[in-house]
Amino acid sequence: MEIKSLGRGLISLLFPSDCKVCHHPLEPLNCSFICEDCWNKVKWLEVPYCSRCSKPFPPSLASQGISQFLCSECRKEKSYFEKIFVPTLYEGAMKEAIHLLKYRKKTGMVAPLEKIMRRYFDHINFPHLDLVIPIPLHRKKFRERGFNQAELIANIVARYFKLELVKNNLQRVRATKTQTTLSRKERIKNIKGAFKVKNKDEFQKKSLLLVDDVYTTGTTLKEAARVLKRARAREVYLFTLARAS
Ligand SMILES: [Zn+2]
Ligand SMILES: [Zn+2]
Repeated sequence: MEIKSLGRGLISLLFPSDCKVCHHPLEPLNCSFICEDCWNKVKWLEVPYCSRCSKPFPPSLASQGISQFLCSECRKEKSYFEKIFVPTLYEGAMKEAIHLLKYRKKTGMVAPLEKIMRRYFDHINFPHLDLVIPIPLHRKKFRERGFNQAELIANIVARYFKLELVKNNLQRVRATKTQTTLSRKERIKNIKGAFKVKNKDEFQKKSLLLVDDVYTTGTTLKEAARVLKRARAREVYLFTLARAS
């Protein structure tokens, strides 16, 4: 059995599969699933975008000199978070890497993603922060997956900025249906009551950075931020690796 899997490992090392993004053959000894070329083409989030949720705007707005601007959704709804910090767009290598990590348990994706994060962190000014909080998985999902991808990312953030990571105080008390096929209204209803803060004192008057892998509709992060604000957090900021455009 062991020799068999050793053999398989050796074969995949010598004859790696194609790049999951561009489908070109990978170089021998490349075990990363994604080629260097595709990593170099990662789309960084560029101005102009919404100053709260980072929704990208058409480039024409930049030429009009508009830099501080809220999108229509952010102008309409009450916000429980100050703003989101997000380095890239959710496509190409980023989308594939996050998928490989989350659904195929390829934890080897953490290293190239960490490289992207470090490049971003080297150039931004975070506000004052007290604690880093990963979006929790429901325990059933955690058991299935074996790890929480948001926690892996939050760990890197906490280490980089030398902040404390708190992972068991914000809890997912209700398992939710997958959000992708739901309408906006259904998503909000679906997520309501999914989170709980166990010990409110721990977050009171604190500046929190809430971390997840990707921002798509924002429903989950917004609900978690609402619960953190109700636990009397002073401010809630968000960080995700990528954002849907
Ligand atoms: Zn490629
Ligand atoms: Zn917005």
